[in-house]
Amino acid sequence: MASTSVPSTRLARRLRDVAPTVFAEMSALAVRTGSLNLGQGFPDAEGPSPVLDVAVAALRGGRNQYAPGPGVPELREAIAEHQARHYGIELDPAAEVVVTAGATEAVAAAVLAFVNPGDEMVVLEPYYDSYVACIEMAGGVRRPVTLRAPDYRLDVAALEAAVTERTTSILLNTPHNPTGSVLTRAELEEVARVAQRHDLLVVTDEVYEHLLFDGRSHVPMATLPGMWDRTVTISSAGKTFSFTGWKVGWVTGPPDLVASVLSAKQWLTFTNAAPLQPAVAHALRHEAAFYDALAHELQDKRDLLVAGLRELDLDVFEPEATYFVTSDVRAYGYEDSRAFCLTLPERAGVVAIPAQGFYDDHEEGRHKVRWAFCKDTAVLEDAVRRLQAADLRA
Ligand code: PMP
Ligand code: GLN
Repeated sequence: MASTSVPSTRLARRLRDVAPTVFAEMSALAVRTGSLNLGQGFPDAEGPSPVLDVAVAALRGGRNQYAPGPGVPELREAIAEHQARHYGIELDPAAEVVVTAGATEAVAAAVLAFVNPGDEMVVLEPYYDSYVACIEMAGGVRRPVTLRAPDYRLDVAALEAAVTERTTSILLNTPHNPTGSVLTRAELEEVARVAQRHDLLVVTDEVYEHLLFDGRSHVPMATLPGMWDRTVTISSAGKTFSFTGWKVGWVTGPPDLVASVLSAKQWLTFTNAAPLQPAVAHALRHEAAFYDALAHELQDKRDLLVAGLRELDLDVFEPEATYFVTSDVRAYGYEDSRAFCLTLPERAGVVAIPAQGFYDDHEEGRHKVRWAFCKDTAVLEDAVRRLQAADLRA
């Protein structure tokens, strides 16, 4: 919500403690102040043009009524082919794939499907903000496991300690927003061991699966021994094909888990984006070169922004993947990243995201800022120039 209004006192208790999404707030701030937006993670460049042609043909070709609830068959087939081609995961498109309104709805449907009131869900912190909102709306309890700067590795002891007799699931995100870290195979094996020992379900958000740097490759949790039966995998066309506004995502996994997600999803949107679904099917089948090139471009942009931020003497934590780099703003005398981000438009004409809202551990989160580098190179260069010319001290 970019609205400045305060919600009614009638707002249900399950939403009272959930802050409005910071991404909309910061994008509105960028528009209002005419600042360069290194906040919300959406790319400046469009996705592949042939995919737009397929979407236009579908719009003109009469594909404008409800799609089937689980998604149009050609998209479910293309998702299955993609999982087989990249990861060797063989899926039955009729039973093991469901299309959703972005990864956001997939997360919401999975949490609603599997979390009973009072159930505890282990979640990596800093977390993507919708996770917290969804767990709250389901009446669940989040049990954060903190990825700590500078390297944001998984603390296995903390993971073990987060699991109690009320824990029923783990919500994983790799590559990870906002830290940009990628769980190694060894780390995934630890998660798998804990999940199997305690009979936990794993919901894994892998929307940045193709945006890894420095030759790294993505390992889906579902491919680890013993994990297929207890893993729900989520991805989306938004990040892979630079169509974040299309909101076409998907869930894959064993038939009983996918059917459970569909049980919730059918009452959320039922179905969405009918004419865009065939276009995403085309993208998955024919546009692998797009995301390979995108990962290389993003790596160069990461290097540009990381170097620029380091010249400012900020503590910068170099990401292994995603759209984002994080930094610590204490060097500028700020104890609070939100105060820093609110002053940034006026001082430098740049918007970034205060990451403190993504933490329960305020000591760890208070000083962290997230910067998006999925923007045009000229925008990043301009942002670095502006930051270097500004007086940023508290
Ligand atoms: N999960 C993570 C980790 C994200 O960064 C995002 C933003 N792309 C989403 C989910 C939401 O994805 P979508 O736009 O497909 O709903
Ligand atoms: N996933 C993007 C981000 O993290 C956008 C999120 C949003 O606007 N809800 O910036």
